[in-house]
Amino acid sequence: MKSETKNVAVIGSGLGGLTAACTAAARGHKVVVYDKNSWAGGKAAVLNQDGYRFDMGPTILTLPKVLKRVFDEANKEMSDYLEMVPLDPQWRCFYEDGEVLDLVSDVAAMKKELDRFSNEAGEAERYEEFIKISEQLHEISKKFYFWKSVGGVGDTMNLKKMVEVKVLKDLFALRMGKSMAGTVRKYAHDERVAQMLDHFTQYVGSSPMGSPAVLCGIAHMQVEEGIWYPMGGTRAVPEALVKLAGDLGVEFKLNAEVTKIKAKNGRAYAVVSEEHGEEAYDSIISNSDSVRTFNELVDGGLKKPFVADRYEPACSGVVLYLGLNKRYEHIQHHNFVFSRNAEEEFDAIYKQGIPAPDPTCYLCAPAMTEPAVAPDGGEALYVLVHTPYLHEGQDWNEMLPGYRQVILDKLKRCAGMEDIEERIVTEAHLTPQDIHDRYRVLNGAIYGLASHGLFGGAFKPANQCPWLDGLYLCGGAAHPGPGMPMVMMSGWIAADCLDKDAAPAVAAVV
Ligand SMILES: Cc1cc2nc3c(=O)[nH]c(=O)nc-3n(C[C@H](O)[C@H](O)[C@H](O)COP(=O)(O)OP(=O)(O)OC[C@H]3O[C@@H](n4cnc5c(N)ncnc54)[C@H](O)[C@@H]3O)c2cc1C
Repeated sequence: MKSETKNVAVIGSGLGGLTAACTAAARGHKVVVYDKNSWAGGKAAVLNQDGYRFDMGPTILTLPKVLKRVFDEANKEMSDYLEMVPLDPQWRCFYEDGEVLDLVSDVAAMKKELDRFSNEAGEAERYEEFIKISEQLHEISKKFYFWKSVGGVGDTMNLKKMVEVKVLKDLFALRMGKSMAGTVRKYAHDERVAQMLDHFTQYVGSSPMGSPAVLCGIAHMQVEEGIWYPMGGTRAVPEALVKLAGDLGVEFKLNAEVTKIKAKNGRAYAVVSEEHGEEAYDSIISNSDSVRTFNELVDGGLKKPFVADRYEPACSGVVLYLGLNKRYEHIQHHNFVFSRNAEEEFDAIYKQGIPAPDPTCYLCAPAMTEPAVAPDGGEALYVLVHTPYLHEGQDWNEMLPGYRQVILDKLKRCAGMEDIEERIVTEAHLTPQDIHDRYRVLNGAIYGLASHGLFGGAFKPANQCPWLDGLYLCGGAAHPGPGMPMVMMSGWIAADCLDKDAAPAVAAVV
């Protein structure tokens, strides 16, 4: 049965907010999107400087089917809005010992690559086994966790059904209580291979030692659907969604920061901004950080207080945007230059709360796929290093120059870029403080809430607020979590819950 048309406000135009807006509009609702910034797309922003074009935030796009589903909702062809090309090798990995390993999508080809790379007997066969376990975990995620509002294990399945043998088997396969790092090391005996597989948890800004084994499922997601580059850069994704939103009649109010969500009698009913005053809505979707939404935006009316201590911010990061007058031919589009020691690195970032002394650097070098990102023969090199979320007393204005040098020295030593400093024509950077201020996140976190906790780490606040009717959540700090595909899924789920709530109640048949 068709839902009643609702007036919907979306707070925040990140990829989660844009997806929620498009999905709600495609289902016939009237949608207004607010963003405090002058652009739509949140962290998927762009920097044009001296003839170089840099994606400022996300660069690795996985699970394109999630994005396609948004266009399908509106009966539109994604290819009319966006051109995407596959990237394989997916990552090139550089190690402290000077060796290089390519992650390729085809499992048989990857086994050959591991046979060439590793002296550990059986490493290639164990990788294949790891991908099988990963596939199992991916399937379980699809069954119990994706495309629905989940806030804890009780939401993932019908509790009565949990006694069914099949479901118990799934739960057992989840390797509950086991960590991602422990599971990876069961299969990867070569520590360098383990370090590569650990890094799937960096997609969610969490320590592999503290994250549940279910996150191993990310490896299979990437085998199955690959890594894609949207021509025009990642920025082309929010641009395509803004165009779709326009086609669906969504209204945008940019440069408008929502300061309150008004609620009474357990129902959200209006948003307040300095620019537009109080505006009433039937339903509100917040794409702002979930903890900050509850603690700072919701004005009274919570049926139950929100327990913020249950959640921890994910990591933050430093990005160097380096316009180079040279293209390094030996690197791929996506590269990792790994730290000398994974344990030391993750301990610094996630336990001690200090920048890693010898960090892993992620490099994006898009000129090989799209030469227009830089003047002829140049490169718009993007270097991301994960850091702790903002801790008290850390002043990144003071810390950046020293850490920039640590990063450049690492690239000179381990990535064959000895002359990089002389090649820089133009430069910009993003620090944890910038991330905090630009995107209104929790303690500068890049990826919303961390996935730490071997039993409940994968759970974030549900998309349908359990305490306040008419309020829905999406984005990296809501279910199912951060990263482009997951936040888009969260936006879809938030809009789907809203749409279901708007459906007229079916009269009981006597
Ligand atoms: C440097 C960096 C690298 C990354 N790399 C990758 C990657 O390679 N692959 C990947 O998949 N993901 C990556 N990510 C993560 C990915 O970018 C995010 O998970 C995703 O884009 C976040 O989307 P979101 O929906 O949570 O919204 P956000 O992008 O966080 O946007 C939220 C928007 O809401 C607005 N807002 C918040 N509060 C208010 C308010 N009260 N009123 C008005 N507006 C408000 C903010 O201004 C912002 O525009 C990266 C992120 C960063 C920063």
